[in-house]
Amino acid sequence: MEKRCILCGRMFVVEDMCETTEDDDLLTPEPRKTVSICDLCRKKLKHEADKSQKPTKPVG
Ligand SMILES: [Zn+2]
Repeated sequence: MEKRCILCGRMFVVEDMCETTEDDDLLTPEPRKTVSICDLCRKKLKHEADKSQKPTKPVG
């Protein structure tokens, strides 16, 4: 199925395997909110999050 990325706005194809997300429903209090982010943007987000989570070592 095709979805539109909320970040860059381009259409991308997602596989049907992520239709049944029961575990996510248990964890997220919100009603099933499908956030569509393409692979590129997802990688970018993950990269930035990973970078910001790294503790800054004091140099010296
Ligand atoms: Zn995108």
